[in-house]
Amino acid sequence: MKDTALRVADFKDSIFGVISRLAREHQAVNLGQGFPDFDGPDWLKEVAYKKMQEGHNQYAPFHGTQNLRQEISHYYKNFYALNYDPETEVTVTVGATEAIYLVITGLINPGDEVVVLEPFYDSYVASIKMAGGIPVPVTMHAPDFTIDLKELEAAITPRTKLLILNNPHNPTGKVWDKSELMGVSQLVMKNDLYLLSDEVYEFLVFDGAKHIPTATLDGMRERTITVSSAGKTFGLTGWKIGWICANPSVTRACRLVHQYVTFAVSTPMQEAVAEGLKRLPDYLPGFVELYKGKRDQFYGELKKLGFEFSIPKGTYFMMVPISKHTSLNDVDFAMKLIKEYKVATVPPSAFYLKSTEGEKFLRFCFAKKDETIKSAVQNLNRL
Ligand code: PMP
Ligand code: GLN
Repeated sequence: MKDTALRVADFKDSIFGVISRLAREHQAVNLGQGFPDFDGPDWLKEVAYKKMQEGHNQYAPFHGTQNLRQEISHYYKNFYALNYDPETEVTVTVGATEAIYLVITGLINPGDEVVVLEPFYDSYVASIKMAGGIPVPVTMHAPDFTIDLKELEAAITPRTKLLILNNPHNPTGKVWDKSELMGVSQLVMKNDLYLLSDEVYEFLVFDGAKHIPTATLDGMRERTITVSSAGKTFGLTGWKIGWICANPSVTRACRLVHQYVTFAVSTPMQEAVAEGLKRLPDYLPGFVELYKGKRDQFYGELKKLGFEFSIPKGTYFMMVPISKHTSLNDVDFAMKLIKEYKVATVPPSAFYLKSTEGEKFLRFCFAKKDETIKSAVQNLNRL
């Protein structure tokens, strides 16, 4: 490993890549990596093609096309009554993944501590380590994946600079309620921290649950750095258009990194996403209905198979307890399911640094065609 820089030398292959490769090798139905196995809307693909034909094909302004930054600013205003200046507070990135990297690299000095709520999306900890920061995990305890505010307070030290919260939450499907968000926000304000709010599943909420952007809470507008992306909302994860909304000083820090990491993001795809955001009010009801149907269908099947847990209110993931079906841990059971039952899932212990609670679950992604879900259920029936 002499060629590998120390800052990445202890990184492993991402669990999503590993599981997708194993699923291919063993011809398993893939309910692992989180992406739909069906395409996003035809009208939006047509818009993208039109944008290319119209000549939107050279470098975009480095912080994003004016059109897209304006549409991002409009939807935050229209949906959440949040005002962001497209010139100084909105930055377009290559998916939420680049956004997360920019926020962390732009804010974190070596030795700074960043509180991550586990289970976490894996790129948080990788980005923190690349910046020389120290990830400090606080566990969201099963079965409801709640935070104990005393544990959170104990994890904050004078070196803590940032806390990362994901809502709606991958991998648990939890949608945070207002009192929980207020509890975390009060500690953020008391300790003078920034909060990175990863809201990529903001529109995937069911059963009347409401997504509350952290930036809308009293006193949190200036401290919250909101990250989102078009990938989930339009079912086009490969387009990789994301964004950061933050105060001008944080925005400037993120842009300083962005200009040298990617410089600019795909122009025609930005223009297409701008059009997509414009049509959100018409598009969203059908989108939510589609995923709710898949969630209900898959949840019903898992119940019939004897898995017991509450139905998740958000995202396209389910964190399913496995101890009634096996004495194996999550990794071994996931391997067994791939090899012997031909169903691929994600073992969530990859999303924890401290607690072993993840070993008792598997994460299933239900953003799949009806026939994919049916074949997965057929295979699981042999359990
Ligand atoms: N945050 C969370 C919680 C995610 O699940 C994902 C992956 N889809 C991302 C960020 C990254 O999103 P993107 O594909 O836009 O980079
Ligand atoms: N966000 C997706 C998931 O959680 C996958 C993203 C990735 O492969 N890095 O499965």
